[in-house]
Amino acid sequence: MTSSTPHDWTDAGFATRAIHAGQDPDVATGAVVPPIYQVSTYKQDGVGGLRGGYEYSRSANPTRTALEEALAAAERGARGFAFASGLAAEDTLLRAVLRPGDHMVVPDDAYGGSYRLVARVFGPWGVDHTAVDLTDLDAVAAAIEPGRTKVVWVETPTNPLLGVSDIAAIAALAGAAGAVLVVDNTFATPYLQQPLALGADVVVHSTTKYIGGHSDVVGGALVVRDGAQLPVGLEGPTGSADLAAAVAFHQNASGAVAGPFDAWLTLRGLRTLAVRMDRHCANAEAVARFLEGHPAVHQVIYPGLASHAGHELAARQMSGFGGMVSFRVGSREQALEVCARTRVFTLAESLGGVESLIEHPGQMTHASVAGSPLEVPDDLVRLSVGIEDVADLVADLGQALA
Ligand SMILES: *Cc1c(COP(=O)(O)O)cnc(C)c1O
Repeated sequence: MTSSTPHDWTDAGFATRAIHAGQDPDVATGAVVPPIYQVSTYKQDGVGGLRGGYEYSRSANPTRTALEEALAAAERGARGFAFASGLAAEDTLLRAVLRPGDHMVVPDDAYGGSYRLVARVFGPWGVDHTAVDLTDLDAVAAAIEPGRTKVVWVETPTNPLLGVSDIAAIAALAGAAGAVLVVDNTFATPYLQQPLALGADVVVHSTTKYIGGHSDVVGGALVVRDGAQLPVGLEGPTGSADLAAAVAFHQNASGAVAGPFDAWLTLRGLRTLAVRMDRHCANAEAVARFLEGHPAVHQVIYPGLASHAGHELAARQMSGFGGMVSFRVGSREQALEVCARTRVFTLAESLGGVESLIEHPGQMTHASVAGSPLEVPDDLVRLSVGIEDVADLVADLGQALA
């Protein structure tokens, strides 16, 4: 357990916060990293005499607390919350901020699982939604129904088409309507993009991806901005309009929390996020430029290329362009062929790990949105560019496309 007066890392840089915030050496033993508190309950010093507030591990666990504090510091938010998966985090957040009859605005190329949650779980509970192109601010404004729209959901860059939308401009639209602005920051990570500083109320992560970073743990997180409120008119379960208080209540009440070992692995990943992202970005840019010059490639989609419609916005809003690259090869058959032929890029779903992955969104990650407004082109190939030697990555794609 950490001391009751931990060092304040607020003014430290990103990598320092990711390595130290919430992670002061263990007071009892001096252990340099937070131990795995694989425990469900805690001895009380007399009834109600809790040590450090710990009572039962659904409510709080020291390993999870370390991760939650580190995530909050990474995003510069007031409070962080760690969950069993990204979708568990999203589900908890939506239950905290929506009621039957409410409406959401969602991206028309949102992560397929997020869209399925909104359309097929929250839909039957009386929440409807409008899917819009978030790069079109007039369309976003038109989709917001004042008084009924309680959540505006942003993903930028999007998956798999890497659309870039203007967080600050959408924050102004959501704020004027009294709606909560949620940003799924999974692709950019807090190292490259800080949505709370741009006006978002809450950031969502699938920590399974870049934050975990090693394809060995599933997890999710919410980080709430200091002072963020529930949608106008909604009173939270604790009687206050404070968004973080409502999320805290729901995290404990429905209990989809991260276990201690998962929290520990995720925190281990977070510590190296800055250096990994630098390499992901450099490798992805080199791969994108190689593909751009390849005759078998019809289109390369990467926010770091001047040909990308959101390039200038991304350059303003992000400090790097990320590790995801998508490209089109003209036909479904050719796309499947490329996916079958790579050797360094592994054919697999998910993203954000140190190893490079390749996939066909139409039949893999985005199969669940076929026939919906979120359907993706069937000649699209998506790469999660890892941190291997870039020459090996380029050579592998070269032989797969030959
Ligand atoms: C993977 C992912 C999710 C869902 O997270 P899980 O950890 O798989 O539940 C949400 N949003 C984005 C952008 C993702 O890539």
